[in-house]
Amino acid sequence: MSRVLVIGCGGVAQVAIQKCCQVDEVFTELCIASRTVSKCEALKEKLAGKTKTVITTAKVDADNKDEVVALIKAYKPDLVMNIALPYQDLTIMDACLEAGVNYMDTANYEPEDTDDPTWRAIYEKRCEEKGFSAYFDYSWQWAYRERFEKAGLTALLGCGFDPGVTQAYCAYAQKHEFDTIDTIDILDCNGGDHGYKFATNFNPEVNLREVSAPGSYIENGRWVEIPAMSIKREYDFDGVGRKDMYLLHHEEIESLNENIPGVKKIRFFMTFGQSYLDHMRCLEDVGMLSTSPIMFEGKEIVPIKFLKALLPDPASLGPRTVGKTNIGCIFTGKKNGEEKTYYIYNICDHQECYKELGSQAISYTTGVPAMCGALMLLTGQWNKPGVYTVEEFDPDPFLAALDRYGLPKKESHAPVLVD
Ligand code: NDP
Repeated sequence: MSRVLVIGCGGVAQVAIQKCCQVDEVFTELCIASRTVSKCEALKEKLAGKTKTVITTAKVDADNKDEVVALIKAYKPDLVMNIALPYQDLTIMDACLEAGVNYMDTANYEPEDTDDPTWRAIYEKRCEEKGFSAYFDYSWQWAYRERFEKAGLTALLGCGFDPGVTQAYCAYAQKHEFDTIDTIDILDCNGGDHGYKFATNFNPEVNLREVSAPGSYIENGRWVEIPAMSIKREYDFDGVGRKDMYLLHHEEIESLNENIPGVKKIRFFMTFGQSYLDHMRCLEDVGMLSTSPIMFEGKEIVPIKFLKALLPDPASLGPRTVGKTNIGCIFTGKKNGEEKTYYIYNICDHQECYKELGSQAISYTTGVPAMCGALMLLTGQWNKPGVYTVEEFDPDPFLAALDRYGLPKKESHAPVLVD
């Protein structure tokens, strides 16, 4: 028996909410709240008669803390699932602290306005101290640790697939497969084809910011930064086939470096087709990925927001996307003094996701772990006050839930390694 407030009703949230409604013995009451309430209403309609979960909807601007506090106080949820955008993470965390409720999200904080001088000063200091220049990092949310601990509340950060399941895979490898892990390669392959020359699989603004940033990885405890897309490898993915993949900065590298003792190297690779890369480079070269406002015919516009308005809505890609995703982690390390390797991953089929929930696999592989993370918190299987990433909890019940609710793991004890 639980009441959950979900903030956001985009591609990922729609999967998470539909999945929560499949587990209606736990998710007994759910409020779907977002900026555009008509989307929440439409999803409520779609679910009518298919679940015992009692669904209500609300309009909320999650950039406004007081609005979120008022909604939490009125609805009195056990958990707030933030599946809006990373820009809202801190406001919603503040609101949860003020109203006394547990919190979770699927992506770590980054500011919407990267020109804000106060933020920029802190960012530039961090770039120098840490050695990577992505706009997002955990420091903003880790700063809430003591406040959540003192309030006896839990905040679960980044519970999608990557970040999220990839960290549970690391915790699982550490618990069951290794005494010490030396290297972790996280491989994110999307073998799906939506037929468009250029579209992004989740929020275009967040996606393009992430992909166009310099790549970075951890080597011997230190960040190494490289120009965007400058390290390329080819890998033969189970269920998908051979794909080019590129080294990217990714948020879970930062927390894994803190939480996996003795790890020497952590890298993250993502596959991209040539058409995607050509379009992205061109858009970047002409300034369309810029987050700084410009004046256009007497009106202020932000180029990347204008681009977002032109691109297909990721939530609309479901019917036309065919193929599979394969996301997982390859480890090297030692067990009982012997060198060993291990690969744990999931394969997900775009069309099967569409048949089940009307979504493509990227939203599915993010929304299902969000539901499973919420399930862990609500059933007390993950329960410790403070602010935590997924690898800091017991991976076993979480991976069992993923197996059960649509993202089963596959394993190999003799994987091909990435050089
Ligand atoms: P969408 O853009 O499809 O949806 C975002 C939703 O948040 C929309 O419903 C939007 O409302 C709502 N929203 C935005 N701003 C506000 C606000 N100020 N107040 C209230 N609601 C707001 O994004 P996705 O579903 O693709 O992504 C959701 C999250 O998941 C993102 O944080 C993304 O980074 C993360 N993600 C994580 C992954 C992982 O593996 N960990 C992978 C993919 C995504 P409106 O309709 O009005 O715009």
